[in-house]
This record gives sequence, C-alpha cells and structure tokens, in this order.
Amino acid sequence: FNTHRFGQHILKNHSVAQRIVDSANVYPTDHVLEVGPGTGNLTVKILEKAKHLTAVEMDPRMAAEVVKRVQGKPEQRKLSIVIGDFVKVDIPYFDVCISNTPYQISSPLVFRLLSHRPLFRVAILMFQREFAERLVARPGQGLWSRLSANVQLYAKVDRVMNVSRNDFTPPPQVESSVIRLVPIDPPPPIKFDEFDGLNRIIFSRPNKTIRANFQAKGIAKMIEQNRRTWLATQSKAIEEDTDIMALVNDVLNEVEYAESRAAKIDIDDILKLLLAFHEAGIHFS
Ligand code: SAM
Repeated sequence: FNTHRFGQHILKNHSVAQRIVDSANVYPTDHVLEVGPGTGNLTVKILEKAKHLTAVEMDPRMAAEVVKRVQGKPEQRKLSIVIGDFVKVDIPYFDVCISNTPYQISSPLVFRLLSHRPLFRVAILMFQREFAERLVARPGQGLWSRLSANVQLYAKVDRVMNVSRNDFTPPPQVESSVIRLVPIDPPPPIKFDEFDGLNRIIFSRPNKTIRANFQAKGIAKMIEQNRRTWLATQSKAIEEDTDIMALVNDVLNEVEYAESRAAKIDIDDILKLLLAFHEAGIHFS
C-alpha cells in the first residue's frame, strides 16, 4: 500500500472509534455519509446504528476491504460504496457525516459539507489538531482566524476529544482531534465570497488594525475593480474621480472599527462591517 498518497492512517483504537460514532447520536432512521472508510473500522460501527451508509473511498483496494468485512452479513444491504475523490463525486442525501479523512482535504471537506443542501444535522470529523483548534477558536484566542470566522458563520463547532497519533497505524506525524459541526439552520443570508473577501483583508495581519490592513498594497486597486463590476451590474455610471480609500475610511470611521483588530472581533462585528461597506457600494468579490 502506498499509504502516503492517500493519507492512509488506520484508526486502530476501537474505543476511540466507538466514541466517535457514539458522539454523532445516530438515529435508526439516519442516512450517514462517511468519507474515506479505509479498512472500515468506523464503518462497521456506523452500520450497527444507521439505516443507511454511503462511504466515499478513493482507493479501490480499501473499498474492497470494506465490502469484504460486511459481505454476507445483514449490514451489507445498508452500505453503498462510492469509489472516487470526495472533492469531485456527487454527494447523496445524508443526515449525519462521520469521517476520519486524510488531512489534505480538511478544508474542502468542511466547506463542501456546509454548502450541501439540504443541510445535514451533525458532522463528527477527525482533523489534525491545529486545524481542529482553528475551527473551534473564539475571538481573542490565538488561533482565531479567517478559517474560524468562515466556518463559524455557518456552523457551531466544538471539540469532542483529542486523539493521540499512537491510536493509528502507521502513526501520522501530527496529533489529531475530533470535532462536532452543527450547521446553523437556516444559514445566514450572506454571500460567502463577500464575507471571505473582507476576511482575507482584515485577517491578513490579524493583530494589526483594520485600517492598516486596508492600506496594504493592492487592496485599493482590488476594491476599485470590484466597485466597477458592481456599478456595472447595477447599471450605474462609473464615477471617474472617486477616491476609493476615502470612501473606505468613511465607512471604517462611521462604524468605529478602524482601530479594531480582526484577532479580537467576532462574527457579528464582521457582519456589521460588511453591511456598512455594502451600503457604501464597496464589495469584496
Ligand atoms: N476512516 C479510516 C479509519 O479511521 O481507520 C481510514 C482513515 S485514513 C486516514 C483516510 C482514508 O481516506 C483512506 O482510506 C484513503 O484511501 C481515503 N481517501 C484519501 N483521500 C480521499 C479522497 N479525496 N476522497 C475519498 N477518500 C479518500
């Protein structure tokens, strides 16, 4: 097996596997999605509880292992295996997602799950510890970052447990943590690209003031470009002599966030700031 290519670290600690599955509170009516079942250590425990499980596995040899484990048993009928890359395959309806996936796809996994409709009830996911800590970080904590804000705009996130590298074979280089992701339903009616676009600016140096981050090279030009596009979609005339940075500073002063730092402000603050920019016709995507 080329364990590196697919990030294959098998969870060998069965009590950890059981705690992961138990923490999802799977109902007997639930459709569960698992990404990267590997040899099926979580899969068999999920099948004990769920109505149906779709497992997406990129490595056909691993998929064969999972099938072998349930062959001839009643659970076999509850299991569908999709062979392919989770980032590319169509995702079926699911109520719950339980996954220990390779850490290379952590970010796309989270955002793909959160943009799937209808929304799922809960996801229990294993990640590299630092990534997990970013997901759960709150404003004012060291790891509060663009990722934290972007994910927490759409979901409540909390840590279920830490998992040692020695609970896997072969052990990965890094420590792991399991987190619980509960989507906010209905999701806030915010354009993600706008929220993320503003976050890219204010979190580029999170401990600098928001005003200073807006003065960074390239920002004025980008905002000016976005404004032209926006004016065009509104069929408004393009003003030739607008001082875009004066406009930005007016907004920052008006909402009193100019001297704030992204490291310390929360999602509501960011949303207020975004709204004020939008009211002034300033866009980030
Ligand atoms: N879930 C198993 C466990 O806990 O023991 C295996 C975990 S192993 C870290 C990750 C699994 O995801 C491997 O079986 C690997 O082949 C599979 N995988 C890697 N990249 C994938 C992708 N993009 N889409 C679906 N599966 C993937």
